[in-house]
Amino acid sequence: MFAKVIIDQDAKALDRVFEYIIPEETDIDVGARVYVPFGSRILQGYVIKISGACEYDQSKLKSIISAIDEQSVIKKELLALMHFMVKKNHLKYSSTLRLFLPSEMREGKVKELFATYYCLNENCQIEISLRAKKQIEIIEFLKQNGKTCSAILKDNFGASAVKSLFEKGVILQEKEQVFRAPEFSPMNQKKVCLNEYQQNAIDSICDDKTYLLHGVTGSGKTEVYMNLIERELAKGKNAIMLVPEISLTPQIMSNFKSRFGDLVALLHSGLSAGERFDEWKRLYSGQARIAIGARSAIFAPLENLGIIIIDEEHEQSYISESNPRYDTHDVASFRARTNQCPLVLGSATPSIDSYKMAKEGEYQLIELPVRANGKEMPVVETIDMMNELRAGNSGIFSNKLLAELVNVVNSNKQAMIFINRRGYSSFMRCRECGYIAKCCDCDVSLVYHKEDNRLKCHYCGKQYRVLSKCPKCGSDQIKQGAIGTEQVADKLKEMFPSVNILRMDNDTTTTKNSHQKILEEFKNSKPGILVGTQMIAKGHDFEDVILVGIVDGDQTLYHTDYRSTERTFQLITQVAGRAGRSQNEGKVILQTYSPKHYVYKFASNYDYKGFYRKEINVRETAQFPPYTRIIRILFSDINENNVRELLKICYTEIEKLKAKYGRDIIYLDAMKSPVQRVQGKYRYQIMMRLNLQHADAVECEAFEIVDKASKTSVFFEINPQNLS
Ligand code: ADP
Ligand code: ZN
Ligand code: ZN
Repeated sequence: MFAKVIIDQDAKALDRVFEYIIPEETDIDVGARVYVPFGSRILQGYVIKISGACEYDQSKLKSIISAIDEQSVIKKELLALMHFMVKKNHLKYSSTLRLFLPSEMREGKVKELFATYYCLNENCQIEISLRAKKQIEIIEFLKQNGKTCSAILKDNFGASAVKSLFEKGVILQEKEQVFRAPEFSPMNQKKVCLNEYQQNAIDSICDDKTYLLHGVTGSGKTEVYMNLIERELAKGKNAIMLVPEISLTPQIMSNFKSRFGDLVALLHSGLSAGERFDEWKRLYSGQARIAIGARSAIFAPLENLGIIIIDEEHEQSYISESNPRYDTHDVASFRARTNQCPLVLGSATPSIDSYKMAKEGEYQLIELPVRANGKEMPVVETIDMMNELRAGNSGIFSNKLLAELVNVVNSNKQAMIFINRRGYSSFMRCRECGYIAKCCDCDVSLVYHKEDNRLKCHYCGKQYRVLSKCPKCGSDQIKQGAIGTEQVADKLKEMFPSVNILRMDNDTTTTKNSHQKILEEFKNSKPGILVGTQMIAKGHDFEDVILVGIVDGDQTLYHTDYRSTERTFQLITQVAGRAGRSQNEGKVILQTYSPKHYVYKFASNYDYKGFYRKEINVRETAQFPPYTRIIRILFSDINENNVRELLKICYTEIEKLKAKYGRDIIYLDAMKSPVQRVQGKYRYQIMMRLNLQHADAVECEAFEIVDKASKTSVFFEINPQNLS
């Protein structure tokens, strides 16, 4: 028999299918890890196919050295997924396969999948000398406790004692078998009485379709998810639920743990490699039947899926922006199709792309239009910061926000102050008239680049001189720069010296539990003010938060990305959803320099549909996705001449496609990347914008050109979230 094997190595030259002979009497499954000879080395690989005939010259084939696993560790469905992803996202086999396995099982750190157990050998008559104390103790221990995991015995009595008993035949070794899936019996737990919308959602989600669950913040989506999962478990099926890393709060984890107990495996970034491996094993063996986690949990080794849920489906973090690049939605929908199960996308602010699919009937739209606790959404008051400036207030806070903060402090309540700091690039804005410097070709804001003191467009690469005067009103108050959380927190401390002011952002949450500690402290601070970035925008339920202040709503708006407006709408809605969650009335103060922008009107009325109608029009007119496809091909190399050479070759070839596809290629150019060097590598890129009609074909041809020309890997990004 012959095996097709993928080698677990990064080199592009090795990233193809190799054939090996399976030695007689060796039992190897498709999906198992193996050791194979490669040149003078022995490498780890994965068997992806077994067949009776070989495709290459048999006399030149080598034999597999040994199998690492007795059973397949990558199940059939995931192997099919590998082929799908390699093709769709132009990925390497090896890096795709790595997504499926915990790091502990990969090249160099091969761990055995099955734990070793020991038990007493009833048929053994050998007497152990009383001087071998440890060995006697082991025998006593096993008599009392029965079969025990090798690690426990070795920890307590030493490895040599265990070994010597085993060699004498006094104890027997057993590898733990794969468990059968445990029965599911719902736990006793106070159950809420579902409202009609929730019940309708649960009843409607039953086919192997994609459902868009559009539920306002606080509408009780979590309850819907739990009921859906419960239903599938009762049918003997398994479930995957994805949440953004940031909302993997202790709150949501304990919710699921108390409802489903040990059937839940939680996969989040706080786990050590070992813990991750353990959770993976519990899923693989069927001990755990619900995988909950961030993006990578979509690769959970579960079969027989009854439902896949993506909560906060609009979140950027579902798109992997580093190698291997993929969109979790594509993977989820592949797995849902294979398992013929429903895929549920939930959000209070669905992505424009998803909502369009729902409008066109590709997705089934289900709505939860009211908050589960019956409370109204908090009132959003928009403050024109231009007016503040004209009235002589050039500070960070408007008079209104200050007055509300004083009110919070006086009534011993809490406030959250939100500052948007996604990324660090910044735009130029006139402090007098609100003018924002934009690209004349692309209608996105320009980004200030300090290293060469220029303004640049991240879509077309066009450069502009830095402005010293506002072209609209002539003022010299035209500045670049963003307000930071630290600045805001310091200001607040000055103003309210006796109030506990907490700060949560990337800088204050570097250690493992810092996130939780800050939230815990905030919970106990009354009055208290929490200043933070998007980290505070979701997932937290604080009863006494009666005020949410959004200091600079514009910072996402002018963020140089065609999705800026969409992000702004999402953020405002999420942040506003933090206020007034309980008995207390909530209020939101939204400060902006461009109060007339449509996004504020719709966001402050919680009018998602109105926003969608406007935004989809803008996209169509400006020819941006979802009406077109943007492709960025990113080249990078230590040697700048090499990248430029390669870029030139590829660009010349790709340009020829224009003859064939004509106006379907709306835009094509080659340029330096906005961030020109990362980790010592020079970065260049080709940007394309394509009409949807022939986008697949152009993409394919472009990929082939690039793939043929380059020895190192080149990254293909489709509708990238981030153009740095
Ligand atoms: P979402 O995720 O849609 O923003 P959550 O799932 O966090 O909303 O629910 C908001 C709050 O409403 C939670 O405290 C939840 O326990 C509560 N809740 C959910 N469903 C109901 C219900 N049917 N009746 C009363 N409270 C509910
Ligand atoms: Zn101006
Ligand atoms: Zn431009």
